[in-house]
Amino acid sequence: MASVPKRCIQMLREIIDRIERERNIDRESLALLLEIKDQEAVSYLHERAREAADRVYGKQVFIRGLIEFTNYCKNDCFYCGIRRSNTCADRYRLSEEEIFSCCERGYELGFRTFVLQGGEDPYYTDDRMVAIIRKIKRRYPDCALTLSIGEKTKESYQAYYEAGADRYLLRHETANEEHYRTLHPAEMSLANRKQCLWNLKEMGYQVGCGFMVGSPNQTVDTIYEDLQFIRELQPHMVGIGPFIPQKDTPFGLEKAGTMENTLRLLSIIRLIHPHVLLPATTALGTIHPLGREKGIQAGANVVMPNLSPVAVRDKYLLYDNKICTGDEAAECRYCMQRRMESIGYEVVVSRGDYISDK
Ligand code: SAH
Repeated sequence: MASVPKRCIQMLREIIDRIERERNIDRESLALLLEIKDQEAVSYLHERAREAADRVYGKQVFIRGLIEFTNYCKNDCFYCGIRRSNTCADRYRLSEEEIFSCCERGYELGFRTFVLQGGEDPYYTDDRMVAIIRKIKRRYPDCALTLSIGEKTKESYQAYYEAGADRYLLRHETANEEHYRTLHPAEMSLANRKQCLWNLKEMGYQVGCGFMVGSPNQTVDTIYEDLQFIRELQPHMVGIGPFIPQKDTPFGLEKAGTMENTLRLLSIIRLIHPHVLLPATTALGTIHPLGREKGIQAGANVVMPNLSPVAVRDKYLLYDNKICTGDEAAECRYCMQRRMESIGYEVVVSRGDYISDK
């Protein structure tokens, strides 16, 4: 009798080894790896993924300074706390000077990548964005600049790129049409979002796509499509984190995604894409006090502490109970360093570029 569970774990190990070898996963294996209860098999999955990350990036974790510069948004995504219909959101936008002083502080603290993230705020016209990008790149030529400001025209992306932007984060959110429509109002389309990612990639940006784990109506099949899309796009980064309800949105009473599934998917993505930049997100740190540490141990290699001014932090509320909303940038920076050191990883002062597998 005892040989039955043994055979089972052996089979699971073989599935995990095959994903790593073939850099691909089939639908049945995905379903199995998301369902299994066997802790030994889950640990094996995380170990293989962590070893894969270590072989490319070693015991180093890259840090990005996240500057949440506006919470105005013209979109109305059903899951997001800064959607335009949320009249409870206390809106703010940072002045150019405030953005630059975040960078200044960040540079002193050892950040060499700045991520400008915000809602789709029409106040920041292309001219304003270009001026901000130019100035940051002129002051900090040794830093990478990442934008995460949503869907724009090719011309806008081109203008930001020429001004010096290096990277762009645009989660695709889900690669399944029907699922996409249940998460977004009719005026938004998956086709456009995907096209934006292809445009960004073709222009020369390092691009990041991604999705929320456990978003309403997500299934094994939609996740399987996400993984297929990621294989097609071959992005430099993949951002995934648990969906967490925000009380003033249409999904306010939905269930949150789980840490377990997020960790399993981080590992699966790492095995399929050994070189990809994979953040252990703030949302993961929000659903569990050690979420980000566990994320790194499951194969992630990036963390993105907050550099936004304390005065606005509790206003950029995509979801409820977000962590670190009362902390200074320096506290977040050193807290992150301690957290990474506690699991044997070092936070590095560098741009933290993608290491190509070519
Ligand atoms: N306007 C930009 C930035 C969006 S915020 C853009 O369109 O890309 C960054 C990411 O936060 C989103 O892509 C989404 O995946 C995530 N997010 C939004 N609401 C969330 C929620 N309730 N729970 C978890 N993640 C959320």
